[in-house]
Amino acid sequence: MNSGVTSADGMGYMTEERILIRDSARDFTMKEVLPVANELDPVQGMIPMELRDKMAELGYFGITTPEELGGMGLGCFEYCLIAEQLARGWMSVASIMARGNGSFLRRGIMRGKEDELPEEQRDMIRRAVKGEFLAAAALSEPGTGSDLASISCRAVMSGNEWVINGSKYWCTFADGADYIMLFARTSPPPSADKRFLGISAFVLPKPRGELPNNCEGSPIPKIGYFGWNTYELSFQGTRAPASALVGEEGKAFYMLASGLEAARAHTAARSIGLAQGALEDSIAYAEDRGQFGVPITEFQAIRFKIATMATKIEAARQLLYYVCNEIDQGRRCDKEASMVKFFASEMAEEVTSEAIQIHGGAGYTKLHAVERYWRDARLTKIFEGTSEIQQRIISDVILGKSKSDARMVAAAFAEQYA
Ligand SMILES: Cc1cc2nc3c(=O)[nH]c(=O)nc-3n(C[C@H](O)[C@H](O)[C@H](O)COP(=O)(O)OP(=O)(O)OC[C@H]3O[C@@H](n4cnc5c(N)ncnc54)[C@H](O)[C@@H]3O)c2cc1C
Repeated sequence: MNSGVTSADGMGYMTEERILIRDSARDFTMKEVLPVANELDPVQGMIPMELRDKMAELGYFGITTPEELGGMGLGCFEYCLIAEQLARGWMSVASIMARGNGSFLRRGIMRGKEDELPEEQRDMIRRAVKGEFLAAAALSEPGTGSDLASISCRAVMSGNEWVINGSKYWCTFADGADYIMLFARTSPPPSADKRFLGISAFVLPKPRGELPNNCEGSPIPKIGYFGWNTYELSFQGTRAPASALVGEEGKAFYMLASGLEAARAHTAARSIGLAQGALEDSIAYAEDRGQFGVPITEFQAIRFKIATMATKIEAARQLLYYVCNEIDQGRRCDKEASMVKFFASEMAEEVTSEAIQIHGGAGYTKLHAVERYWRDARLTKIFEGTSEIQQRIISDVILGKSKSDARMVAAAFAEQYA
């Protein structure tokens, strides 16, 4: 690869071990992921099982999982280094990696207390590391997106079982996963400013290719993020044993919050990987494409686009390294995690769009991967908290919480529970 488009290794955080981890993930991506993505994404094919098996062999489903549970015991830094590389090939593959790192199960209790997890859930994590127990996450609902505290899917105890009723939306991998991590309300919120209480998390194991018992669903016709299906689901009396509850009843929001910084860093890494792919493809195309008797790289307009794209990518990457380091050091960095998610995803859409421009008409076809990078980059601004939600978090830290937001939430609460 042209050394001019790689990261500045000598700077700051990159140790020899990290360079090795990154480079081996890149080799894997270029050999095993990119060709599969180029073949399957245009026909909306699924991520092949063999690819998942190879990822498991490399340990990619257990990068941050402690060694005593079979994982690599590495940090968010290494997790994001690998995610960036995989996303350079296919974002969905960088995403499926997160479905094995056992994060939701481990988040059932606070960081550093893995040994307090019930043995059954520890065993699930061990299987997740091997790629044998991969998750789908069911948080969003038809009426619940950015405002997750408004979840209305309900779970009630009946005898010694949980009974689940309600709708979920946008559940990616609902069919192919080995379990669905479902968030449902188990008790009413105590007050308007504590709407996040009363929501619990459940692990719902199921056979691959099927949905849980008493649950129906169908795929949503999305415009990208192919390689797996994204479902709308209707739970109609789905039954789960008492042991399906993960973490403390009614306190699933704390569990969500404990992993948000890493989740946002992971999305930033995916955005950077997409942008890097777009940059590399653009350079290769521009060097090859001739107009007016010269390669288009001779035109300053194209050269400056490449310069701007590379600069934006590197700025996002260095902010990501900083955030990952803060996470691994156990320092609070919610504002910075929102900043990198916001900045990297906006950057990825800009850079992938410029890549299409550099490709000219060829960029507007399915014959080149840049259209895929752009479609997938568009999503990074929407999921894991939209750009507007990140801006809201950042501005709340800088300016203090907006009083109009608080009034709006209180009014909506009063209406809902009047
Ligand atoms: C392809 C795809 C896959 C997904 N996979 C999953 C999954 O596996 N599991 C899962 O649970 N969810 C998943 N999601 C859902 C995703 O997390 C939500 O789409 C996202 O949280 C936004 O919610 P929403 O779509 O309901 O938008 P809304 O929340 O309705 O937002 C609409 C617009 O209003 C803005 N807005 C909302 N609130 C505010 C505010 N307070 N201030 C300023 N602006 C605001 C938003 O930024 C946005 O521009 C997926 C989504 C997609 C598209």
